[in-house]
Amino acid sequence: LAACGGTGAGGGATPAGSAPASSAAAPAGDTLVGVAMPTQTSERWIADGKAVKEGLEKAGYKVDLQYANDDIPTQTQQIDAMITGGAKLLIIAAIDGTALTSQLETAASKGIKVISYDRLIRDSQNVDFYVSFDNYKVGVAQANALLFGLGVTDKDGKATGKAAKGQDIEMFAGSLDDNNAHFFWNGAQDTLKPFIADGTLVVKSKQTTIEQAATLRWLQETAQKRMEDLLTSTYGGKGTGLKGVLSPYDGISRGIITALQGVGMGPSIKDGLPVVTGQDAEIASVKLIADGVQQSTIFKDTRKLAAEAVKASQDFLSGKTPEANNTKDYNNGKKVVPSFLLEVDTVYADNIQSLLVDSGYWTAEEVKSGV
Ligand code: BGC
Repeated sequence: LAACGGTGAGGGATPAGSAPASSAAAPAGDTLVGVAMPTQTSERWIADGKAVKEGLEKAGYKVDLQYANDDIPTQTQQIDAMITGGAKLLIIAAIDGTALTSQLETAASKGIKVISYDRLIRDSQNVDFYVSFDNYKVGVAQANALLFGLGVTDKDGKATGKAAKGQDIEMFAGSLDDNNAHFFWNGAQDTLKPFIADGTLVVKSKQTTIEQAATLRWLQETAQKRMEDLLTSTYGGKGTGLKGVLSPYDGISRGIITALQGVGMGPSIKDGLPVVTGQDAEIASVKLIADGVQQSTIFKDTRKLAAEAVKASQDFLSGKTPEANNTKDYNNGKKVVPSFLLEVDTVYADNIQSLLVDSGYWTAEEVKSGV
């Protein structure tokens, strides 16, 4: 029942399947596409990289896929190398969304199109397209899961009217240099606000700004430390009264759970462990959900995102403009970047099978509880 699972797979399992190549493929030949991913310490980015690479290769392109260990200079060097290596298009999931301006200027001067992948690249004119999930709705879904777990709303977000008043919660955010962290936070805050305003929920530490709640680089250890500090400063060292914790990412969730269990809470929700949300449906967290330890996670089907990135690449490389389904929400500070946004699902113990196993994202064996 312990919050095992470390910080992620580090090269372990990835979801099955890959991005289908669309039939509108350009004559790909020797065309090189550079794919820059942030880190391999989280399963989702391994899955993203694999699916994008496979999808592009199926469409006939050559692929240079690089991971940057969450190190900003490494990522900028990798992108420089892709450009000098002759890449005709770049797909980039940025570590720091504001750190790539000069690389993108060079790319633009050479006519290299840039697709911002999952995370919006900021402060540059030279971002041609954005493929992502509806990040605001991710935050809404995380807050709804928390509200549901605390009995404040039903699963559809409708107030039950039966919730106890004065339930103590704490809130975590992601890395401030990741544009998504702000969208997740805003979606969650807008959803929680009425229940904080009417006293149903109380953020006892009073740490209610995104700066106070942030977790640099989304690190599990950093989140664990902050949770430990909150338990000491605000909950008598034992977690007394703490009912729920908003967490934006499974790694952060596992850090939080380790801290809570470390002061003797739980070990599972039915034994009084606070409700902890998540994101990404990482194997270690899905197991914890199956065991009733972590309450929920948000499933983002990286296979679908990869397929959209491949489709947009094929369009650009054959001189077409990819089709956006959102042209208003993602202003990167210099321009509104045309976006294609996908929907997400909330995973609880009772739909692991239907959402994750039946869809072939994980096998039943991989997400088996209690292992
Ligand atoms: C992604 C999330 C992920 C987080 C940490 C965000 O940009 O959208 O899916 O949990 O980064 O890797």
